[in-house]
Amino acid sequence: IRSTAVPNVDGSVNYTEDDEEDVVDLAANSLLNKLIRQSLVESSHLVEVLQKDPSSPLYSVKTFEELRLKEELLKGIYAMGFNRPSKIQEMALPMMLAHPPQNLIAQSQSGTGKTAAFVLAMLSRVNALELFPQCLCLAPTYELALQTGRVVERMGKFCVDVQVMYAIRGNQIPRGTDITKQIVIGTPGTVLDWCFKRRLIDLTKIRVFVLDEADVMIDTQGFSDQSIRIQRALPSECQMLLFSATFEDSVWQFAERIIPDPNVIKLRKEELTLNNIRQYYVLCRDRKDKYQALCNIYGGITIGQAIIFCQTRRNAKWLTVEMMQDGHQVSLLSGELTVDQRASIIQRFRDGKEKVLITTNVCARGIDVKQVTIVVNFDLPVNQAEEPDYETYLHRIGRTGRFGKKGLAFNMIELDKLPLLKKIQDHFNSSIKQLDPEDMDEIE
Ligand code: ADP
Repeated sequence: IRSTAVPNVDGSVNYTEDDEEDVVDLAANSLLNKLIRQSLVESSHLVEVLQKDPSSPLYSVKTFEELRLKEELLKGIYAMGFNRPSKIQEMALPMMLAHPPQNLIAQSQSGTGKTAAFVLAMLSRVNALELFPQCLCLAPTYELALQTGRVVERMGKFCVDVQVMYAIRGNQIPRGTDITKQIVIGTPGTVLDWCFKRRLIDLTKIRVFVLDEADVMIDTQGFSDQSIRIQRALPSECQMLLFSATFEDSVWQFAERIIPDPNVIKLRKEELTLNNIRQYYVLCRDRKDKYQALCNIYGGITIGQAIIFCQTRRNAKWLTVEMMQDGHQVSLLSGELTVDQRASIIQRFRDGKEKVLITTNVCARGIDVKQVTIVVNFDLPVNQAEEPDYETYLHRIGRTGRFGKKGLAFNMIELDKLPLLKKIQDHFNSSIKQLDPEDMDEIE
């Protein structure tokens, strides 16, 4: 149903929660996250574990050796540069590799090592000498399936006889072909087709079933039902694993329907805070005026790197052109770009090739560029009711208390937007000081 789509001034479209197009964004964000990831994401919280049998001992491992993996698999792990299990892997790996196999539901934000964990589980359970699918992994999109496949290939580099196959639309398999590859990764629709209609995969021979990105999956029409139909045809001794970056009730309900007798592992996200951030606002008459204020401010603080947020694509484009014409080296990250293009822009920015990144809300989530110390809200984030969008404000400016460096945030405000700013101030119970853009000495 697309009736809920409301075009913005710049012709781009906001979709409400229940709109199917939203899914594309979730999956695209997830892919972007994977493409730009450089290292593990840390959390200072403890891993929460809920065992299906609370009386059984709880194992955790501090090294990969303790897992008694096949030699070639251990070599693959070290070749990837992993020295020790991540926080979630410490608890998840012993459960996943236990005999008899245990089912698992695991939730932690992206970047905490979930994919590496289940890839390791698949590779350790596969029998390279048996030439038929033994591990089945469902992913929400073609691109995400490929990303997981790459991890299988890297980690399984020394498991020379183990092979991966992609059950994705467009991958034409002639009728009557025998699939000899042991690991199949695919999207629910195509996997369903390969299993039931084309009979290319015998589900009764699957030993490990993985449902990755459950939160993205349930957002796609039909994927939950298709996944459940696949799961129902698996043998009871098949190990079933489900992963999700977020855990709303809907994900939880789905997880419980599809994973019988699970252990549950959760790792809470590091909370964002505005404590380390000095926030300022500059009163402006109009867009030109905002631009002038921005130039004044930017001239005054050439330390570090800055991200500038605009509300619409059109505004972002306008600002980019203006700044370029004034000789600033800036880059524009906007929703029209493909995920690959976005990843490459973020990478250049990270490498310091550009000092200023101009972007819209669409791209704001999930980009974590540690060296960014200055954030400018060229437009305040507002929702469709023209109320402040507090969550987005926090995501743009906030940092985790533990890893956060001190930061500076500037809000460019037209007079009529001042009440919104006051609301933001009250909401977070933090002060946003007025700044005279002509007098940069005011910045502490
Ligand atoms: P998730 O699936 O939770 O998003 P990934 O498994 O993709 O997380 O891991 C995030 C990043 O951290 C990847 O670049 C991955 O190669 C790396 N990584 C995963 N496990 C480890 C580990 N034990 N040690 C070091 N790096 C790791």
